[in-house]
Order: sequence, then C-alpha cells, then structure tokens
Amino acid sequence: MLRPLPQSPETARAAGFAWLRQRRLQQILWVLVMMFGLVVVMNLAYGRYVSAGLEVAVVFLLAVAMRLNARGRTDRAGALSMAVLMLGLCALALNGQGLFDESLMAFPALLLFAGLFGFRRVFVVLACGMLAMLALLYFLHQHDILRSTPVLPVGWERPFVISLVVIATGLFAWLLTSDLGQAVRQLEAEKQALEESHARIEVLAQRDSLTGLPNRSLARERLGFLLQQARRNGAMVAVMFLDLDNFKTINDSLGHAAGDELLCQVADKLRACVRETDTVARVSGDEFLILLGDLQDEDAIVAVVAKVTHLLGRAFAIEGVEVLVTASLGTAVAPRDGDGADLLLKNADTAMYQAKDAGRNTFCFFDASMNESVTEHLHIASGLRSALASGELQLHYQPQFDLHSGRVLGAEALLRWHHPELGWIPPGKFIPIAERSGLINELGTWVLRQACRDAQGWRSDGLGELRVAVNVSPLQFRRDDIEREVAQALLASGLPATALELELTESLLVADARNIGDVLQRLGAQGVQIAIDDFGTGYSNLGYLRRFSVHRLKIDQSFVRRMCINAHDEGLVRAIIEMAHCLDLQTVAEGVEDSQTLERLHAFGCESAQGFHWSPALPGDAFVEFVRERQAVAG
Ligand code: C2E
Ligand code: MG
Ligand code: MG
Repeated sequence: MLRPLPQSPETARAAGFAWLRQRRLQQILWVLVMMFGLVVVMNLAYGRYVSAGLEVAVVFLLAVAMRLNARGRTDRAGALSMAVLMLGLCALALNGQGLFDESLMAFPALLLFAGLFGFRRVFVVLACGMLAMLALLYFLHQHDILRSTPVLPVGWERPFVISLVVIATGLFAWLLTSDLGQAVRQLEAEKQALEESHARIEVLAQRDSLTGLPNRSLARERLGFLLQQARRNGAMVAVMFLDLDNFKTINDSLGHAAGDELLCQVADKLRACVRETDTVARVSGDEFLILLGDLQDEDAIVAVVAKVTHLLGRAFAIEGVEVLVTASLGTAVAPRDGDGADLLLKNADTAMYQAKDAGRNTFCFFDASMNESVTEHLHIASGLRSALASGELQLHYQPQFDLHSGRVLGAEALLRWHHPELGWIPPGKFIPIAERSGLINELGTWVLRQACRDAQGWRSDGLGELRVAVNVSPLQFRRDDIEREVAQALLASGLPATALELELTESLLVADARNIGDVLQRLGAQGVQIAIDDFGTGYSNLGYLRRFSVHRLKIDQSFVRRMCINAHDEGLVRAIIEMAHCLDLQTVAEGVEDSQTLERLHAFGCESAQGFHWSPALPGDAFVEFVRERQAVAG
C-alpha cells in the first residue's frame, strides 16, 4: 500500500521529496493504465486484436511497476514503466501506421516524464532509442516493408521533423530538470544548515556550557514531564537543590580555572549518584538541581540524599590540591509538598535555605519528618562498616519445630545489631542499606561462617543433629563465589552439608533463572538444603518451582499470623501446603504465635514451624539452654 499523505506541512517536509516522487509516479501510472485500458477497448471494438494484445501487455507491466512503486522502490518502478512505455509505443508504431502512427506523439511526453523524474540515464537511453526508432521506421517505409493506410509517400522531412521535436523536448526537459535539481540540492543544504543551527541554539539555550548539564529551563521542562508521568503512575518525584557552601572561597583562593574544574567534578559525582532517567542540572554558579522521577517509596529518596552527602564528603583533587567541599541540600517531594513544578522548586529552595541556616554542610527536607530517615540511613551506612570488626553484630537463633514429634529441628539464624548510639537496629532496616552499599557480601560471609560454627558447636555439645537455616541476600547469591563460600564455611566448621539450609527469596529465582539453577543444583548435590523464604508474597508465576532444586517452602508469616481470623489466609496457607506436597516439597510455617494456628497447620499437613508461640530468636547461649530444657521435658 502507498503510505498515507502527511497530514501537516511539517510532516510532509519531513517525509521529503522521495515521498512526493513516489506519490506522483503512482498517480501518473494510474492515468496511463486507464488510458491504455481505454485504447484496448477501442482497438477491440475496431477488431485490431494484435494492437489490443500489445496494449494489454503494457497495462499488465504498468501494474507491476505500480506495485513496485507502492513498496517504495520508485527508481525501479520508474525505469520499468518507461521501458514498457517505450517498447509499447514502438511496437504499436511498427504494428500500425509507422511514421504516421499516433503513438509517436507520445515520444516527447515520455522524454518529459523521464527528465522531470530525474531518471537521467533512462532519459539518455530513451532519447537515443527514439531517434533510432524513427530511423528504423523511415528505413522500413523506404523499403516498403511498412505501409500506412492509405499509403502515403514518406520523405526524409517527416522523420527529420519528428526527430527535431523529440530533440527539442528532450533539451527543454534536460535543462529544466538540471535547474530544478540544483534548486532542490540548494534547498536541502540550506535546510540542513538551518537544522544544525537550531540544534546548536537549542544546546546553548538548554545546556550549561561548562558542565554540559541541563540548565534551569530544561530542568524545569523535565520536571513538568516527570510530574505528569508520576500523576499517571501514582508515583513520587523528588526535587533537590544543592548549593556548595564554600565554593566562593575555593574560587577566590585557587583561581577560576580550579573553580571550573571543581564544578565539573561535582557534576560528574552527582550524575553518578542517580539513575540514567534522573536529571542533574546546573541552575546557577554553584547551585545544582537533582530530579528523581517515578519513585515508589521514600527509601529511594533517602538513599540518594545519603549517597550525595557521602560522595561530596570525600576530598576532590583539584590541580594537585586536596579540596574539601561541603554542600547544603534541600529536598521537596511531590505530591506531598506540592504537585506543580514551580511550587516544588520553591519548596526545595526553601528547604535548602533551612539547611544553610542550620549551619551548612547538611540536608533538609521540606517535610521535616524525613530528615530523621536520612540521618539514620547515614548513621547506619557508616556504622555498619565498623560494626563487624567491633563485635556489634550478633547472630540470634529462632528454634524451628517438627510438628509431628514436637522436637526442635534446628534454628533460623537472624542477624542482630546493637548500635552504640541507636540501640538495637532491626535487620529489616540495615540489610537493605548493606545491600545498597555492597557491604552485604562481607556481612553475608560472616553470617554463614558464624552460623555453621555455632551449629557444629550444638552438635559437639550433644544437642543432636540440629539444622541451621541462613538467610542469603539475592545480591550475595548472584556473585560467582557463593558455592566456594558455602564450601569454606562447612569445611572450616566441620558441619555436614545436610545440616545447612540456605533461605532464598522468590525474586532471586524468578529474575535470574539460568545461572542460579545450575548453582542450586550443585549445592543440592552436596547435600545443602534450599528453602524459599516468605513464600507467597512474591510472584504469581510458580513455574520456577519445578525448574529449581528446592527442598522447602517457608510460608510467609503474614498469612500464618492471620489464618485463624481470615478465611482467605487460611485457604492460602492450605493451598501452599497442598501444592508443596504435590511438588514433593516440605513446608515451614513462620510466625506461629498461638496454639490454635499450630493445630490447624498440623491438620493441614505442614511439617515444621517457628514463631513466638515457642520462642523469638535467642542469643546463642540462650538457644542452647532452650533446646536442653525442651529435650529434658521430652525425656
Ligand atoms: P525472615 O527471614 O523472614 O525472618 C523471619 C522474621 O520474622 C524475623 O524477623 C523473626 O524475628 C520474625 N518472626 C519470627 N517469628 C515471628 C512471630 O511469631 N511473629 C512475628 N511477628 N515475627 C516473627 P527479623 O529478625 O527482624 O528479620 C527480618 C528479616 O531480615 C528476615 O526475614 C530476613 O529476611 C532478614 N535477615 C535477618 N537476618 C539476616 C541475615 O543474616 N542475612 C540476610 N540476608 N537477611 C537477614
Ligand atoms: Mg528467613
Ligand atoms: Mg520469612
């Protein structure tokens, strides 16, 4: 099909001359097909069957050319249609009245057609072909091979005059198309120059020439777009103003070149703090703007503020001198602090001045309640590094029970951190920060080794063959050396592989299927048990359960805790247990808080459980004591 006609002058201009040529050729071919169709009918009516046959062939080949043209192969379609027309006209003249045939009238038109369409080579071939054809017809008339009806005398003047007409038309067409071609090329060049200068003006108007970052006007435009997008997706947008506190001092003491260098380095660092889709802009001398779009929760904003504060806290190397920079950061969040671009910019600016008033080198949210989150985040991130070394981290163990025998099967190792100032920090708070900062690997290695060592200690103390379950972060698992780490922890502690269970999250199995499958297979072959933690909260596609060698599903505590008060949750727990059994998997219920829940789980066939009904996670010694007491009671 032919592409539709552009709707506006702009789109037509963009489609260009090629489109116009295609369209025109198609129109001309339509007219020719109809004309030849009419001539076919006339010839049939007069009983000129040979001519009619020739014309039918011409119509057919013109239709082929139309099809080629419709597919965008205009040059080929043009050449074909001209060859067909030329041969058709020649055949008609030979079959008809020779030099007196009306088909020769179409020669100049054909030349014009070729010339105007810019088919230069075809044009030359056609002109030569026409002159040769006229010579041939003259020759045939002279030798009585071809005769007109009625028979008319043929002198040299007839082919000569027709040749003159052909040559003159050809010349006009040639000159005209040369001029037109030149004009078109000139126009194209001017258009390109105009586009380039538009692009340059746009860069100058929208970018900061020193750092290449967007300037205030582009940032304002992008903010409008982010807000629109956020309104549609129900997401949040954060606007951060960042002002360097001591830039003037650095500029004055080290010189402007050093100041420029510092601004470029700050720009690079800020860009490294955000995602590709976020915007970092320079809005004035030492003032930057950061726009974060499509945010689902406040944690992401807190993390970026913490990252910016952390990165700017490091020294910059400017012309061989170590320069320390401090910045004041003000943040407003949409829709809470306003949903229009101007209001948000104003509020972020206000927050930034609050940060300056608070003594500089700090951050401030327009909504003050968020300030605490960042302080905490920063405290946690910096404290976590030393926590391991200074023994602030401990492993606690929550007992897990066999629901048939009531025996303690083992325990889940749960990380605990006692911060010297903030007190006990729950893992839900510091594990995500450790994951973001990459510290989770070091932390995970320590947990794995410590848990294996403790579990082997229980065995040596005569507590029996207890199993230890260790939570493994997806990030830790995606590294190449998880197998080596597990092997080393087992080897160093002497714990058998079958006594170690790794708890993985569903997201890991769904997102990273191929590589993880092999790793799980190899770990399983050694005897290491694999459990899926918080099962039921993640994904609806359960196909992964068949693909991976998993031993146990841990039913998420949110369902277990509500199963006695909510029929849906009860149904879900029951369904998970039945599905697990169909797949030859065992189940562990987490969050069992009362005996009624326990009885139901037992009735549904759940194999094991843990929860406050028995005990929270206990420090190592208390866990050993707990197990001893249980074993003494059981006799
Ligand atoms: P999880 O692996 O699902 O751990 C179970 C959580 O439920 C623990 O919270 C536990 O104390 C709590 N819990 C156990 N029984 C009950 C109950 O009957 N009722 C209620 N309400 N809660 C119960 P915790 O210790 O705060 O751990 C939270 C999460 O932090 C863990 O969830 C786990 O995902 C993560 N985590 C803990 N330790 C580690 C670790 O060493 N490495 C990694 N990567 N993640 C860990
Ligand atoms: Mg767990
Ligand atoms: Mg869990």
